[in-house]
Amino acid sequence: MNLKKNWAPVLDRFQSKLSKWKSKTVSFGGRLTLIKSGGSDEKKVIHWILRDKVTTSKESGGLGVSTIKALNVSLITKWWWRLRTKQDQLWAAVITSSLPGVWNNIAGIGNDLKKKNIQVQTVLDKRIVNNGVIWRCGFTPDGSFTVNALRSRWDYRTPLTNRNFQWIKEILLKVSCFIWRAQWGRIPTAKELVKRGVNMENLTCQMCNVKEETADHILVDCAYAKKVMEGVMRWCKVHTHMEDLQAVSDVLNLANKWGMCTKKRKIFLTICYSTLWRIWIARNEKVFKRNRLPPEKVIEYVKSVTFLWVKSRGIKMNLIWANWSQCPFFF
Ligand SMILES: [Zn+2]
Repeated sequence: MNLKKNWAPVLDRFQSKLSKWKSKTVSFGGRLTLIKSGGSDEKKVIHWILRDKVTTSKESGGLGVSTIKALNVSLITKWWWRLRTKQDQLWAAVITSSLPGVWNNIAGIGNDLKKKNIQVQTVLDKRIVNNGVIWRCGFTPDGSFTVNALRSRWDYRTPLTNRNFQWIKEILLKVSCFIWRAQWGRIPTAKELVKRGVNMENLTCQMCNVKEETADHILVDCAYAKKVMEGVMRWCKVHTHMEDLQAVSDVLNLANKWGMCTKKRKIFLTICYSTLWRIWIARNEKVFKRNRLPPEKVIEYVKSVTFLWVKSRGIKMNLIWANWSQCPFFF
């Protein structure tokens, strides 16, 4: 049993189980992590979101996932860079003289780059200095080539409007991912499901039975959501006109600009994210279990869950529940 081949069937089965398990049970946030580690098929995760939003960098409002193509091209270019800059090494001679297939692959990368409007001279700039040759890469400040620099240049896309999305560590990744999707309207509301070909008898919001169910409506504009949000704002002692809040992005804008203290703003942002998240859970309770949670109950959930998150994941602070439940900013 020590031989590797004896284990092969077991390993194969394990591998196929693992990939099924990954696609079925790993959450959006988990899959985002898997994609970034290179361990998962990126096609499945972008089902609900447009590809350009996934590959746009986080700084520009996207999810910051690099495409497989970008990684591949960047790794090959790395070889290309090494062959030019370290010509005297033995392996360089081996590749250029005795492995023509590999060499052709590497040499052909210029054509790929051209398709993306990336000038070969920018990636690999040859300069003659004091009768010697030096190579510089135009993407990095110090002129040395890095895989990451080319990857992000390859995947570069114009920033996604001016929506500035904050990824903060106090909040579970799955919740951040949910809010990120919600601000683009890409959560499975009745309206979105119909767009994707699901047959729905009724598009009306089941919380108020008045308006059509969209992400902005169910999470912010709905009378039920407003009641929850109003209670949370009262608890936070944040004065805002509820009429001004109509979309998920309105809530995020309010939270991103609120107050003068970064520490408190982060807490407020955490509270806003989990309020939106809890409203969605309440909606699912109603839609799937016919159980209508009173808004007061949702507000209580928000208080306790944010207390735990900020206490365990946030900045070290001596938080006391008795104070927190009165107002989260007494510290
Ligand atoms: Zn409604």
